[in-house]
Amino acid sequence: MTTQIHIVGGGLAGSEAAWQLAQAGVKVRLSEMRGGGDMTPAHQTDGLAELVCSNSFRSDDAENNAVGLLHAEMRSLGSLILAAADAHRVPAGTALAVDRDGFSAQVSGTLAAHANIEIVRERVDALPASGATIIATGPLTGAALADAIKGATGADALAFFDALAPIVHRDTIDMDICWMASRWNKGETKDYINCPMTKEQYLAFHQGLLDGDKTEFKDWERNTPYFEGCMPIEVMAERGEDTLRYGPMKPVGLDDPRTGRWPYAVVQLRQDNALGTLWNMVGFQTKLKHAEQVRLFRTIPGLEQAEFARLGGLHRNTFINSPQLLDPTLRLKGAPHVRFAGQITGCEGYVESAAIGLLAGRFAAADLQGRVMSLPPITTALGALLGHITGGADAEIYQPMNVNFGLFPPIEGRAKKADRKKRYTDRARAALTEWQAALQPEATLGPEEPAI
Ligand SMILES: Cc1cc2nc3c(=O)[nH]c(=O)nc-3n(C[C@H](O)[C@H](O)[C@H](O)COP(=O)(O)OP(=O)(O)OC[C@H]3O[C@@H](n4cnc5c(N)ncnc54)[C@H](O)[C@@H]3O)c2cc1C
Repeated sequence: MTTQIHIVGGGLAGSEAAWQLAQAGVKVRLSEMRGGGDMTPAHQTDGLAELVCSNSFRSDDAENNAVGLLHAEMRSLGSLILAAADAHRVPAGTALAVDRDGFSAQVSGTLAAHANIEIVRERVDALPASGATIIATGPLTGAALADAIKGATGADALAFFDALAPIVHRDTIDMDICWMASRWNKGETKDYINCPMTKEQYLAFHQGLLDGDKTEFKDWERNTPYFEGCMPIEVMAERGEDTLRYGPMKPVGLDDPRTGRWPYAVVQLRQDNALGTLWNMVGFQTKLKHAEQVRLFRTIPGLEQAEFARLGGLHRNTFINSPQLLDPTLRLKGAPHVRFAGQITGCEGYVESAAIGLLAGRFAAADLQGRVMSLPPITTALGALLGHITGGADAEIYQPMNVNFGLFPPIEGRAKKADRKKRYTDRARAALTEWQAALQPEATLGPEEPAI
């Protein structure tokens, strides 16, 4: 078979991209190192689209949940990953959970049986110098290929660990308590939201950090180099009662407009996306367990009602600085024959990775067939996620992100909290329908397409 595109990595993203391309009539070579003598530290099998941890694709509620909406959009675009997940669904309430072995076997079998796909069990160590390519090697990309990517993109543009500080939806911050100021009152612009703390509140918070349940590193993650750059907030807290007050919680220069004085400590939040809907808790990367983070961070004055778009974490995770490196259709600006897809782009999670694989596959098919494919509208889950990765996120502080409503343009007008999510999803559905109708016929693969 003369291949027209080379996909490297047969995980969630590479498998979905291969399927979309093959269904559009493009001949695909899919290289997967597992099964060819190599393994990642987290995978256990040779199966394509292996789920390395949880067996859940999270909420399947397309009316009220952004990831549920993403499921629905992917189904309507003929996603293989969603079709296999639906076929191997196990009871999990409103979540979409799957029998992982059946799921992976179905993806592997369907791709292996496709006349347009050749699966090769090989490790790829270099970026191909020419020819259409999709790199979908995920958070545990092979070391040699990671080095090659680093060479092509620059050392600062490829990370091997994430250091996630929690992100808060802007409209859930109480601005009657918080106020805007510059960082430690230096500079002209008031770019930071400040949450003030009294001594009692700070000491209780400090104790909460020391006492809180933490997640352990996996054995192969233990050599995390985070201590050099972005130390977890609880590790800083262990160094002494005042360490945080001289670090990320420093109140110097920050007059609280309600008292006219510096608070004992502050928590500062900085805008995280161009839309201004998401705000990042500066310096709050943490390995506290998620429930503990929500409980403790809601004790911060002004964040009592905070809704978190992302919680903190630290993991081994290979990802590129996509907002800086990729064009809107996921091509590497410096080498446009190469696209990136999946978690290596800085999206986070099984569903998001497969969604970006779906888009990369469709964009690549359009390029190879001389068609123009418009971008999915920013008001859809696919468009919001793609837009965030390829430019909406702040490249200076880029860290992995799940899909969430904070990535969408805010809805117009006021709405009751209970109605807001529904309004996002109604708007998204209408936009997706319009976009799909406008796609040139060759790009319109219907939902019935995955014949599995
Ligand atoms: C320990 C761990 C736990 C996780 N738990 C969850 C979870 O519970 N829920 C969740 O939603 N997400 C979880 N994730 C994130 C999850 O890995 C991703 O969401 C998802 O698997 C990413 O899909 P992907 O296709 O980008 O990468 P992957 O699914 O990892 O696929 C990449 C593929 O590329 C192959 N590969 C790598 N390098 C090369 C090379 N040089 N040549 C050829 N092939 C190569 C790998 O073998 C792999 O099959 C976890 C990640 C890790 C590391």
